[in-house]
Amino acid sequence: MSLLITGSVALDSVKTPLQEHHDLLGGSASYASLAASFFGPVQMVAIVGTDFPEAYLTLYRKHGIDLDGLQIVEGKTFRWSGEYEWDLNKRRTLSVELNVFETFQPNLPESYKLTPHVFLANISPQLQMHVLRQVATPKFVVADTMDLWIETQRDALADLLRRIDCLVLNESEARELTKQTSLIKAGRLLLKMGPKYVVIKKGEHGSLLFGDDFFFSAPAYPLEDIHDPTGAGDCFAGAFTGYLARADRIDHDSLRKAVIYGSVIASYCVEDFSLTRLASLTEPEINERYGRFKSMSHFDVG
Ligand code: AMP
Repeated sequence: MSLLITGSVALDSVKTPLQEHHDLLGGSASYASLAASFFGPVQMVAIVGTDFPEAYLTLYRKHGIDLDGLQIVEGKTFRWSGEYEWDLNKRRTLSVELNVFETFQPNLPESYKLTPHVFLANISPQLQMHVLRQVATPKFVVADTMDLWIETQRDALADLLRRIDCLVLNESEARELTKQTSLIKAGRLLLKMGPKYVVIKKGEHGSLLFGDDFFFSAPAYPLEDIHDPTGAGDCFAGAFTGYLARADRIDHDSLRKAVIYGSVIASYCVEDFSLTRLASLTEPEINERYGRFKSMSHFDVG
């Protein structure tokens, strides 16, 4: 089944204590779409400027991503820059330039309006809602968000939460949105705000999946070499929704598998800057790491 993904497409500048790179392919929709493309067809709804490199469009196409919903308009692409500390969990945003995003009005191509699976990757909740309203009969809608929207567009976010099936967010956002220190309490409270399922991502400590009568805790893959954590959360959510769209079935088993596939793709993402590692990722590599996850966390002793 097809998956519609909307979010940001960006040119990122990323600095870690060891390396610095400019004009990298980034944005929540880029990471999520490439991650989801390993599981089935993806339709991307986003905007870039005329400065957007052709090589990045070629990469999307190579992964079979449908670009009919990608607007290319006169002007500059959205730009973001960030800097990591030696503890790569700590990141500081250095600058954000909205550019073409300032006037973005996503209008879905006719062929996207009947798409059953939807992932609203991180952009403003108003834009997420604008896209969702155009989908005629969504079957399963997942959304991501960030601290900026929790702080500046809380009402729009609350409206969105009532319209989606699953919210994916990181631990600090879950705490900020619910004003809870316990992630367990935060997960339960988020369910009360609307979605049937909530996934709280804990970076290198794995993730928690909450449903009304359902809880699943997954570890993260124990990687030795992390080069750039940017986009790991978007890759997690992209692969999570991509797997569910392929399964076209929402039950406890498919949700558990989706979380593990999300963790697998995110673990590959951080091995290199931008989408470099995902660009060369193969199905056997995905399956191999999925198997390792299984044996690493298997527990069946009496
Ligand atoms: P993550 O590491 O999951 O937080 O995602 C990083 C990506 O989010 C980068 O590639 C940025 O281009 C993108 N990003 C940063 N700020 C925003 C924003 N305000 N809206 C949409 N995307 C953003």
